[in-house]
Amino acid sequence: MASVAHTAPSAAPTAGAHAISIEGAAKIYRVSGGAPVEALRPTHLDLQPGEFVSLVGPSGCGKTTLLKLISGLDDITSGRVAVGDRIVTKPDPSVSVVFQRPALLKWYTVEQNVLLPAKVAGTLTKEVRQRAIDLLDFIGLGDFRHRYPSELSGGMQQRTAIVRALAGEPQVLLMDEPFSALDEFTREVLHDELLRLWSEHPKTVIFVTHNIAEAVYLSDRVAVMAPRPGRIEQIVDIELDRPRTPELRTDPRFFELVSDIRSCFHQAGALGGND
Ligand code: ADP
Ligand code: MG
Repeated sequence: MASVAHTAPSAAPTAGAHAISIEGAAKIYRVSGGAPVEALRPTHLDLQPGEFVSLVGPSGCGKTTLLKLISGLDDITSGRVAVGDRIVTKPDPSVSVVFQRPALLKWYTVEQNVLLPAKVAGTLTKEVRQRAIDLLDFIGLGDFRHRYPSELSGGMQQRTAIVRALAGEPQVLLMDEPFSALDEFTREVLHDELLRLWSEHPKTVIFVTHNIAEAVYLSDRVAVMAPRPGRIEQIVDIELDRPRTPELRTDPRFFELVSDIRSCFHQAGALGGND
């Protein structure tokens, strides 16, 4: 067993200003003609400003549901979520979401796609445009600003979606399996790029994945989730130095954390017969 600290998910929130406070947040979907679905049992989790936390678990354990409650894209059944001082009741520009599919508009260039949310919100200024151009340069897309999504690889499309999410300078970045459609090599490059972006432009990040190694590599803490009903079973501190570098992937401490989290799933009975 790795020497990691486990924090009970129901532990009382620590004092101080949290970037995100999830206080007994729960979601029940009422399905017409069927039994209600308890997608998320009352859940508690607090994030410090600038913290990187991953939610890991198999399909159906409420990961997307929890992100929807934090982003205000879905109504909460009970409990509450606060982002800074604001109780979440609807979507807000302070919280950006990156989805599994980049959802770029194919008739818009990379730059136009990145600037679209600011344009729609009426907040497109010279500064916002310059920040978007700087971010595109930073992530290696400077020469592709005037290209269309169909001319980009999957990894470049997802980089564009990440820049689009960051262009409005949100406080919080929510990422729902953003790299799961990419090949492993591209995914590993994007892990390092995401961490580089995050250290240059600090944000509080919640990253959803079903890949344990991905969660360990990126995160300060990993919340292990289980289904039926969806819930956080355990929170594991990832006490690995930053900056994280590719050598970490072959470090015994890394393997130990991955196998420790894997055993949390077995204890929770979350995996069934397969991972
Ligand atoms: P995950 O993202 O971890 O795969 P979800 O949050 O999407 O899980 O789903 C959690 C549970 O809630 C699942 O059982 C799913 O079928 C159910 N669910 C999600 N969205 C809806 C919905 N709109 N209506 C009914 N049930 C839903
Ligand atoms: Mg999901």
